[in-house]
Amino acid sequence: MHIVHAASELHPFSKTGGLADMVGALTQALARAGHQVDVVTPLYRGIRARHPGLKPAQWRFDIPLGSALVSGEFWKLEPEPNLTLWFVDQPEFFDRAGIYNERNVDYPDNAARFCFFAKAAVLLTRHLPNPVQVLQCHDWQAGLVPMLVREAHDSGKWHVAPKTLLTIHNLAYQGWFPAAAFGFTNLPSSWFYRESAEAYQQLNCLKAGLNLSDALSTVSPRYAREICTTEFGCGLDPLLRRREHELIGILNGVDYDEWNTIHNPALKHAYDVSHPAGKAANKAELQKELGLPIDAVVPLFTNITRLTDQKGADLQLAALEQVLATGEKLQFGLLGSGDPVLEAGYRALALLHPERIAVRIGFDPQLAHRLEAGADFYLMPSRFEPCGLNQLYSLRYGTIPVVRATGGLDDSVVDVRESAETATGIKFSEPTSEALAHAIRKAIALYAVPELHAHYRTNGMLADFSWERQARHYVSLYENLIHGA
Ligand code: ADP
Repeated sequence: MHIVHAASELHPFSKTGGLADMVGALTQALARAGHQVDVVTPLYRGIRARHPGLKPAQWRFDIPLGSALVSGEFWKLEPEPNLTLWFVDQPEFFDRAGIYNERNVDYPDNAARFCFFAKAAVLLTRHLPNPVQVLQCHDWQAGLVPMLVREAHDSGKWHVAPKTLLTIHNLAYQGWFPAAAFGFTNLPSSWFYRESAEAYQQLNCLKAGLNLSDALSTVSPRYAREICTTEFGCGLDPLLRRREHELIGILNGVDYDEWNTIHNPALKHAYDVSHPAGKAANKAELQKELGLPIDAVVPLFTNITRLTDQKGADLQLAALEQVLATGEKLQFGLLGSGDPVLEAGYRALALLHPERIAVRIGFDPQLAHRLEAGADFYLMPSRFEPCGLNQLYSLRYGTIPVVRATGGLDDSVVDVRESAETATGIKFSEPTSEALAHAIRKAIALYAVPELHAHYRTNGMLADFSWERQARHYVSLYENLIHGA
């Protein structure tokens, strides 16, 4: 099969979250399974310098964007057989300090930037030498792609257009813009209607993709069910219910070449399920790095996250305050950034409890590995979580996840109440700081029973969330799409 992926983030070239990891790993797994895979993504600042293998593809183009004509160029990298990465070079749009925003403020021209990107993705797909069967678009940034493909097909300009699949990584981000931004598509205004890209007289890029793609997927089975409800549907649940039979949830996998505890340049001590000693050594290193007392006996919790409501960062802050107030012995290390109020709250907590709490504000992929490897428990109190990756990384790293039972967290972690034999973590249901504090206390109690703690840890480390496995679900989905099943 020949598949193109259009994504605004691609690990290891650009990343703000799980989307990047997913697209990087899924496309590699598909290529290794023998499919021809092309990925199209923006050429952001710094990519060329960090990846000197990128070469100009000798492919320049001009794209109409409303009344302007914007030129661009593709750069290309072939990291392994069957896989070609295409980078859209348009310095005015993409050579910037941030990907979507700076200092938490969105770029005001995001509509133009990602409409340009969507058009470049369509142009590439149309003109690749071999016909493409499926064009998989990720999130709102590629949300206009299915509409552009459909229009080209319906108007007779593109006879054998590929099937389009829109993958939702997070329904809360929809790409809302004033109606005038629809002009960037250069489509007749007859395409701006409620069953297309229009919502409340505004342009909604994700809605366009949800309405006009041939199929829909999201990144866990439970999130697929949740987004069809008013509670999680972010206003798009009526549309999703209408297309429920075309919406499938496929849990993300893990790139175990990168997220492994044996050959990992970020970690000082190798370990795995049969040689667990290195984990304790990594814990001591991490405590040192975070400036916390080196103590094997105290349970160490960590979290690597965007500091947002979605991630329950406020619940976590309040729960830690409650647990510390009752004198429980624990340590906690946070890496993250986001809401300035939450950043300040965590900093203040660390100042108040320097022996217990360490906070690093920023984005640091190497430290993320050490926080996963050195911890005993990993907290993920998300209000909603389409898939979540860190709980999967935690499992492999022998770090027991403490998660709210929602979305992909519920699908990937086994609580003792579900199965004592195969338990891998601790789940709680209510999105409250009290429920999280209770779960943290359960974790502390579990830590006090070494055999039980080891039982959870072993179960988690042996769990298989490899992409080889998950990619097969995408292949069947593509096959069904192509053959019209
Ligand atoms: P999201 O909703 O942010 O996409 P996921 O759990 O799906 O959440 O994926 C988050 C990814 O981003 C993980 O690989 C995580 O380690 C990484 N990440 C998030 N914040 C940071 C940070 N501050 N530093 C390094 N990596 C981070």
